[in-house]
Amino acid sequence: MSSESLFARAQQLIPGGVNSPVRAFRSVGGAPFFVQSAQGATLTTADGQELIDFVCTWGPAIHGHNNPVIRDAIADALNRGTSFGTPNPYEVEMAELITRFVPSIKKVRMCNSGTEATMSAIRLARGFTQRDKIIKFAGCYHGHSDSLLIKAGSGALTHGHPDSAGVPASFAQETIVLPFNDTAALTEAFAANPGQIAGVILEPYPANVGLIKPEPGYLNFLRELTAREGTVLIFDEVMTGFRLAKGGVQELEGITPDLTTLGKIIGGGLPVGAFGGRADIMDKLAPVGPVYQAGTLSGNPLAMAAGIAALKLLEETGTYERLAALGQQVQAAVSSALQAKGLPAQVPQVGSMFCTYFTETPVRDLASAQTTDTELFARYFRGCLEQGVYLPPSAYEGCFISTAHEGAAIDRACEIMTRVIQSL
Ligand code: PMP
Repeated sequence: MSSESLFARAQQLIPGGVNSPVRAFRSVGGAPFFVQSAQGATLTTADGQELIDFVCTWGPAIHGHNNPVIRDAIADALNRGTSFGTPNPYEVEMAELITRFVPSIKKVRMCNSGTEATMSAIRLARGFTQRDKIIKFAGCYHGHSDSLLIKAGSGALTHGHPDSAGVPASFAQETIVLPFNDTAALTEAFAANPGQIAGVILEPYPANVGLIKPEPGYLNFLRELTAREGTVLIFDEVMTGFRLAKGGVQELEGITPDLTTLGKIIGGGLPVGAFGGRADIMDKLAPVGPVYQAGTLSGNPLAMAAGIAALKLLEETGTYERLAALGQQVQAAVSSALQAKGLPAQVPQVGSMFCTYFTETPVRDLASAQTTDTELFARYFRGCLEQGVYLPPSAYEGCFISTAHEGAAIDRACEIMTRVIQSL
C-alpha cells in the first residue's frame, strides 16, 4: 500500500496521522512517507523509494539500521522471553557498561524513554534538594513532561507550540527559562531566587534547535555556579550520549555533572531511557529513598540486549574517528556548495552530528537560530528528498550519521546535497 493511502487511513484514526508530531512534515510541506524497511544507511519507503537516511531514527541508529549484531542480540533475548517484571541479568550488565562509559554516573536507573529520564531526574533533583524551581534553556528540548515543555525546541518549536497548551501556569512558574550561552542571565536568575533552584537541566550541545556549541568557559561557569549554590546540574545527553564520544559531551568538555539523562543509543533502536549520577543523589530514589519512580517495562530484556550490543559495538577501535570523518566530509561538501552558490549559511558539525542554518547571524542561542530561513530550508529538504536523501523534516533538527554511511552512501549523499544546493 502506498504512503499516500496509508496516510489517508492514518489521518482518520491517529491525530495528524502520526505518533510524534515532527513526522507529519508540516513545516516542510508535503505528506510524510511511510517506511517499509530499513537497512544500513538506507530507508525503503512503502512506495519503493530508497533514501539515504540522515535521521537515523532520531539518533539511535549509530551503527546503521537493522545492524546484524544488534538483531542477533535481540533474537537471542527473544528466545528467553519478552518481559519478566523481575530483575534480570541484562540490567546489571547495562548498568556496568553505562557507569564504565560515563564515569560521572555512579548509579543508574533504567526507564523507557528520554522523556521519562528527564522527568525523573527533575523530580529527583527536587526531592534531593527539597527545592522546587528549575532552570532550563530556551530551545533545549527534554521530552514532553510538564515542567520541561516550556520554550522547548524540537517538534514543539517547529510546530509553533514551544509552550504547550495543557501545562498549568502553576507548574510553568517553577521553571525558569534562560537564553543559552549567557552567563549574566544565570547569575541574575540565581540572585533572584536565592536557595530555591533545585536543578539546572541542559543539552550541553543544544541539538533540538539545530546544533549549538557552548562558548568557551560557559559550561565551567555553570558547573561552578551550581556547585556553589547546592543546585543539581543535569546534563541531558539523551541525544549526545555515546554519539559524540563514549562518555558524551561531558567527556569532550571535561565537565562532571551531578546527574545525566540518557536514551536513544542505549536502546539499540528499542524504547529505552536512563538517568544516573552521584550515588548520594541516586540513593534518594525508591525503594531506598523517598523519591518515587517506577516502570512495568523498565529494564526490559529485549531493550537491554539491544542496547548492550549497541554499546559494545562502540568499543570497536576507531568508531568515533570513522564517524567524525564522515561528519567532516558532509560538512565540507555542504558548506562549499553553499559558498559556491553564494548563500549565507552555517554548517555546524561535531562528530556524526551536523545541521544547516540558512542565516548570516552567528548561531549561539534560540533567538539567533530562529533567524534561519525556514522557507529555504523547506525547499532544500524537499529537493534532497526527491533525489534520495532524507534530512530531518524541520529547520531546527540536527542530522545524524551512522557507521553504515561509510563509502558509497556518504559520497552519493554529498553529491545529491551539492546538486540540490546548486538548484536552490
Ligand atoms: N532529551 C533530548 C536531548 C532529546 O533530544 C529527546 C528526544 N529527541 C528527549 C530528551 C526525549 O526523548 P524521548 O523522545 O525518547 O522521550
